[in-house]
Amino acid sequence: MELITQAPRGTQDVLPQDSYRWQHIERTALSIARDFGFREIRTPVFEHTNLFQRSVGETTDVVQKEMYTFEDKGGRSITLRPEGTAGATRAVLEHGLLNGALPVKVSYVTSCYRYEKSQKGRYREFHQFGVECFGAAAPQADAETISLALLILKTLGLTGVSLHINSIGCPTCRARYHEALRGYFEERKGDLCETCLGRLERNPMRILDCKSPICGRIAADAPVMIQYLCDDCRDHFTAVKAHLDAAGLEYQLDEHIVRGLDYYTRTVFELVAENGLVLAGGGRYDGLVEEMSGMAQPGLGFAMGLERLLMVMEEQGCSFAEDTGCELYLVSMGAEAAQRCFTIATALREGGVSVECDIVGRSLKAQMKYADKLGARYTIVVGDNELETGVAQLKDMKTGAVEEVRLDDSLYTTLYNKSLDRQLAGVADLFQAVSEQG
Ligand code: AMP
Repeated sequence: MELITQAPRGTQDVLPQDSYRWQHIERTALSIARDFGFREIRTPVFEHTNLFQRSVGETTDVVQKEMYTFEDKGGRSITLRPEGTAGATRAVLEHGLLNGALPVKVSYVTSCYRYEKSQKGRYREFHQFGVECFGAAAPQADAETISLALLILKTLGLTGVSLHINSIGCPTCRARYHEALRGYFEERKGDLCETCLGRLERNPMRILDCKSPICGRIAADAPVMIQYLCDDCRDHFTAVKAHLDAAGLEYQLDEHIVRGLDYYTRTVFELVAENGLVLAGGGRYDGLVEEMSGMAQPGLGFAMGLERLLMVMEEQGCSFAEDTGCELYLVSMGAEAAQRCFTIATALREGGVSVECDIVGRSLKAQMKYADKLGARYTIVVGDNELETGVAQLKDMKTGAVEEVRLDDSLYTTLYNKSLDRQLAGVADLFQAVSEQG
């Protein structure tokens, strides 16, 4: 029998009890990016295959081995996006955004698809938060983008993250580098994997990020791009580093970062967690817009893997904005009370209060038990007596305290004031903690 109750390998479900963690990360990233001027873009989960072939690059592992590509019913070759930059760039071009004020800054939260060997921190469906900035050639843009990535991780509470940077030059200086690389790998041709033999002629830089361990060992001693930078690329990189230094943003030079996608030029960077996991990667891609549209326009961005972020945040015990949960559970006894509870719930919900009432037909005891499981902050029991008098007991499920409330508009005001009191108490605690610290 087919395993219809088992998700495909390399995919993960986010269950209701965990989704607030994702929402916390996504909200934090989008909101900080918004403060830097990035606004959200949403693009399709699938694109024409040749978009990725042209942008990510024919000789990359992603395109050669990992894409989910299929023919649709109209005979078109379609691919599930393996990353976010190509689709965002396509959309920005298609809608003429680059004809308006520059730079154009976009952010996104997307699912991505790569047919990879699934393991911890590596999935076939994964999620990225990313940003792209078009039309900014100055080194300040590189520093700003890097500082955004760092600030997101810092705000999420991650510690021990290191920033690794490198420059992989432009097509001009890269031609000389390719020659040097070719020479190096030619001498070691016998040990390279089949795919890398093909890359040797077409794009020797891709051998540097081959996942085969033997190719990896050979690549470790290969010449590095940084020694072949032209004057313009070197000046650009020096200025990027000067900006990071001036802002006190620490980094490590890592001449071995090349990134696995072809569109990168000049600055490339990675944010690495204490446990060695690469949380985010990005850099400049000054040739991508021209490659796709013929119009020269610089670009840069980064993407961070949400599964990895979550994993490291959990390992480090970072806190997540809690789900506020159910504020009030209305317990009903009998059909008439159930109807009254539904009416009260409808009115309170319109006012933005989180209310639940019985929709299963449970007994009083079972409803109380369920309210407890939900973590409801308050409960009110409505029976014949309450229906008659219009007065009920509001029970604080945390303290056990009970107070009389009226089952009319004043209930909304009572709950609203209580929630306000809690918020004010929270702020007061915060002030107290700060003043005690110093
Ligand atoms: P890339 O698009 O390859 O530059 O990757 C950017 C970020 O996405 C990486 O730093 C990871 O955090 C994440 N990532 C890439 N591939 C995967 C994957 N297969 N599973 C989980 N996260 C991934």
